[in-house]
Amino acid sequence: MKIIDGKSISNQIKSEISAEVAKIIDNNGRAPHLASILVGEDPASQTYVENKAKACKKVGFVSSKYNLSAKDSENDLLETIEFLNNDQNVDGIIVQLPLPEHIDEKKIIQAVKPEKDVDGFHPINAGRMAIGLPAYISATPFGIMQLLQRSEIETKGKNCVVIGRSNIVGRPVSILMSQNADPGNATVTVCHSKTKNLQEISSNADILIVAIGKPELVNADMVKQGAVVIDVGIHRKPSTEKKSGFKLIGDVKFDEVSKKASYITPVPGGVGPMTIASLLINTLKASKKEIYPQTEHN
Ligand code: NAP
Repeated sequence: MKIIDGKSISNQIKSEISAEVAKIIDNNGRAPHLASILVGEDPASQTYVENKAKACKKVGFVSSKYNLSAKDSENDLLETIEFLNNDQNVDGIIVQLPLPEHIDEKKIIQAVKPEKDVDGFHPINAGRMAIGLPAYISATPFGIMQLLQRSEIETKGKNCVVIGRSNIVGRPVSILMSQNADPGNATVTVCHSKTKNLQEISSNADILIVAIGKPELVNADMVKQGAVVIDVGIHRKPSTEKKSGFKLIGDVKFDEVSKKASYITPVPGGVGPMTIASLLINTLKASKKEIYPQTEHN
């Protein structure tokens, strides 16, 4: 069994990006710029935004933060987005989710210009991804595809089962795995809470991608000998072994499933570290206008 080391793969991606930024600067170019908008003071969201800013600094990007109060109106947020949409020096915009209840998340996602939507949440990017056009792909599915590609795992012709159909993980990753691309070209089955005979289906998978949000639901009986297992779940489990009082676990029972798997992502250190790396890749692409060279949405 091989561990898919997301931390090391994400560090490798960050070094590649740093090298590319250094070249851009050497050629008198402008460093890629990611702008983050945070509404309110939720500590977890603050940490996520902080971590993204740190990662930007590490690779030589410019990052800027726009903090709105939880009491600010939807219109205030729309105006901030509009300002950043029109700022020629901003390449990527992220609005940290979740948003306060009085703000319509769908409206906000659609307000970000598709060319700057490095989170890949805008319906134009989601739609382009679905039909195989160049698009910003959201961080978690993109990270999973990077893990498979960089671990040189063959996906063509494989039987892939995705458990979970959320818009941010299960659905997009199932589309990418079935795409006529490399990685891709797998035969994909999507399972969800109404699926019957889950164990029968999952235990036939050559590649099993689990994004259920249920701690350690997938056990060894649900996994084929030699399968590649990607565990997207993250949960806190109380633990006296850790100073923090908890340890992180996934949607997969790592101890038993790792004995059957050929490759497996650990939690933590598997899919998690790839999300920021994916965001950095998208921001670099945005600064190079790789996805929308004709700026048809300007
Ligand atoms: P979600 O929106 O709650 O979706 C969960 C999906 O799993 C749904 O499609 C649901 O089916 C399905 N499901 C739930 N219980 C099931 C069961 N017993 N059998 C089969 N399917 C079942 O979750 P998500 O946002 O995709 O996230 C999934 C997990 O990944 C969470 O633990 C989350 O914290 C984690 N996550 C991690 C990262 C990372 O960076 N590592 C990023 C994003 C998410 P229905 O559609 O029928 O309800």
